Amino acid sequence: HATAPRLNVLAVEVRGAGPGWAVGGVLPDDAFDHAGQITKRDVRASALARLAPAPGQLLWDVGAGSGSIGVEWMRAWPSARAIAIESRPDRATRVRRNADAHGVPGLEVVEGDAPAALSGLERPDAVFVGGGATVDGVLDACWTALLPGGRLVVHAVTAETEAVLLDRYRRHGGDLVRLHVERAEPLGTFTGWTPARAVSQWSIVK
Ligand code: SAH
Repeated sequence: HATAPRLNVLAVEVRGAGPGWAVGGVLPDDAFDHAGQITKRDVRASALARLAPAPGQLLWDVGAGSGSIGVEWMRAWPSARAIAIESRPDRATRVRRNADAHGVPGLEVVEGDAPAALSGLERPDAVFVGGGATVDGVLDACWTALLPGGRLVVHAVTAETEAVLLDRYRRHGGDLVRLHVERAEPLGTFTGWTPARAVSQWSIVK
């Protein structure tokens, strides 16, 4: 007689609060309280694609600003975990608010300056550095703490930070990408392209 097929289910997880980052669930900028300090949607989608959220994994969002990266990471999977590190108290408060507003109250906020604020935190599976990359010891501390197989993504909008990323890229490899995004806007009675500041992105897998 035929043996019934067996289905071994190791883990089942339904994607989180939104439709999930991989299928277009990255939120619009105005979904966040941000006062200008935010990784904009299209660039955020690129960062998330490389951070590659996975069930149960931990993200450090260093220089969290509005917290958008940590919030998106948490929304990708119910069991995803994130720690946002932000030096400015007003912004740390804003991260907390954005996390609560988006149904991810488990996002942990650490108010303080990297690299000092990073010591003692649980080792992450992925690290996003949106601020502080030019500060001595920040990238080294992130790289050392990152678990094997972990992903590091660093963004730069200034020439100084970009210089740091070029140096890292030349020494360690990975991908160095420049993202130019332009949006269509009314230009008189026509439509013109308005460029946003270019963002340089260095990413590497440990
Ligand atoms: N990715 C964020 C935007 C980051 S803006 C978002 O999507 O909202 C950069 C942030 O880094 C700023 O809020 C700044 O206060 C913070 N920052 C800069 N240097 C830092 C450091 N050494 N430690 C912690 N935060 C830092």
